[in-house]
Amino acid sequence: FLHGRTALVTGSTSGIGLAIAKALAAAGARVAINGLGTDEQIAAAIAEVDAATGGSGGTRHFGADLRDPAAIEAMMRDLAAWSDGGVDVLVNNAGIQHAVPLHEMPVSKWNDILAINLSSAFHTMRAALPTMAARGYGRVVNIASVHGLVASKDKAPYVASKFGLVGLSKVAALEYAAQGSRESGGITVNCICPGWVETPLIEPQIEARMHGGSREDGVRALLAEKQPSLRMTLPEEIAALAVFLCRREAHNITGAALPVDGGWTAQ
Ligand code: NAD
Repeated sequence: FLHGRTALVTGSTSGIGLAIAKALAAAGARVAINGLGTDEQIAAAIAEVDAATGGSGGTRHFGADLRDPAAIEAMMRDLAAWSDGGVDVLVNNAGIQHAVPLHEMPVSKWNDILAINLSSAFHTMRAALPTMAARGYGRVVNIASVHGLVASKDKAPYVASKFGLVGLSKVAALEYAAQGSRESGGITVNCICPGWVETPLIEPQIEARMHGGSREDGVRALLAEKQPSLRMTLPEEIAALAVFLCRREAHNITGAALPVDGGWTAQ
């Protein structure tokens, strides 16, 4: 159902973003990926996304470092040329974590986390939303976190950035709610708020809980703290929800922050 549509997924050289890029490609979209990595990692990510299209190709990597607003602006200009005016689907997924008590948090980490996890979404949305409005169809899917809904200690900039992303998304949802129609699909802006998802991002937190035991012990301890299902979410399970939000039938799901957290925020 996304044939003829284009999508940008930030931070899609790894983890949840890569899974979303593949799922959007499988649904028919031409996908722009973004994110850091070696030449080999980036080539592998492009090949994986291309393979999801059934080999029709067309996937491109845009290398902007999302800490740099000027680089994001240049990327969005290049993307407009690549996508005939602008992307139809924008997934702000890139994110980093650093878990230490507030008074030990390096100022550079605060700045980087706020820039990547929050400000980059403002810069991409500012560029992408007007074209979506003109076309009557557009989807912004922001990958926030349960930490956009509740806090945990040792995550000051991460929690601040994710609460900010949820707020930013609600404002954009309201500003664009009346654009388009049921038939065209309208413009929606939503957050997905995952609990623990098995990706490289959470490895340091698993390791911190191994206490000399196995990785499995670390995973079990992490889940026992907060996620009542005691199951990790897989990146492709987040991707399935992101793809659903892009469907025409989802035209009235907007301004939502949807937890995928095994009951974490029900407590
Ligand atoms: P990941 O580390 O596997 O992927 C992060 C991606 O962001 C990578 O592609 C990386 O290259 C990119 N990135 C990092 N810094 C960048 C920069 N300066 N410029 C451009 N790209 C940059 O992590 P993940 O777990 O897949 O995380 C994806 C998103 O999901 C993040 O926003 C994260 O906060 C969120 N999230 C993850 C979990 C989890 O348990 N894994 C839970 C809730 C929310």
